[in-house]
Amino acid sequence: MPGRLQNKVAIITGAAGGIGLESALLFASEGAHVVMADINMATLDSAVALVKQRSPEVGALAVKCDVSKEREVEELVKTAVTEFGRLDVMFNNAGIMHPDDDNALNTEERIWDLTMNINLKGVWFGCKHAIAAMRLNKPDPARGLQTGGSIINTASFVALMGAATPQLAYTASKGAVLAMTRELAMVHAREGIRLNSLCPGPLKTPLLMDFLNTTEKRERRMVHLPMGRFGEAIEQARAALFLASDESSYITGTDFKVDGGLSSCYVTAV
Ligand code: NAD
Repeated sequence: MPGRLQNKVAIITGAAGGIGLESALLFASEGAHVVMADINMATLDSAVALVKQRSPEVGALAVKCDVSKEREVEELVKTAVTEFGRLDVMFNNAGIMHPDDDNALNTEERIWDLTMNINLKGVWFGCKHAIAAMRLNKPDPARGLQTGGSIINTASFVALMGAATPQLAYTASKGAVLAMTRELAMVHAREGIRLNSLCPGPLKTPLLMDFLNTTEKRERRMVHLPMGRFGEAIEQARAALFLASDESSYITGTDFKVDGGLSSCYVTAV
């Protein structure tokens, strides 16, 4: 049985842990060559080793890349194309949630800029260089229907809902990811390049759990979760796999919510 991403070439940013690592493991197990990018090389190297161990038949590469630096993102895309011949999937997943990100009065400008540079500008750079590479893709029946590619940008449920526990820069950056992705999806639809946003709900990954570092903080959120639990990174990876694969060939420009029903919720069950 060919994998759901058989012979495709995928870049995943923020691949050293959380959603990025689970996605790299899943994409590779479905036949994709994976180029894994992160700023944290110590963790990234062991993440790539894990992918190679579980899926030795595909290529897996570690690339040090700070997504907020355009030259590094350009090099990342070049490396994928040089090593594997093309780029089919770009998962712009790297993001930060800074502990000093707060409300309008308390958030310092440097925290705002740092967050925007990684969470928004980093996604733009990823889209920009992936689109340039995907435009060169030639039809190839062995790789499925697509001739262009699939770009997935990680936003968040906070792009759709307000919270009285503010992280203003984070929320604004994720809202902008949704708007930018939607517009790019329209611009590049006729080139066969699909762009979608992934909107995860609150997850049990270090990004959120480091932020919710007391039982009180976790309980404050838990009461609003319809399923009564935080999500898992693998549940996002499965959605990213669908958006990356040709199974989602008629889906573009969407805010793909994987939030356990949170954004549809008024009152939770007891
Ligand atoms: P995580 O912290 O587990 O992983 C994020 C990875 O991104 C880390 O490996 C980190 O080293 C890397 N990274 C940080 N800055 C980078 C940079 N400048 N360049 C390259 N890599 C960088 O987080 P996660 O929970 O897996 O989150 C992944 C994405 O999902 C983020 O965009 C996050 O905002 C989003 N998200 C997470 C949640 C959640 O509850 N965890 C909810 C909604 C959205």
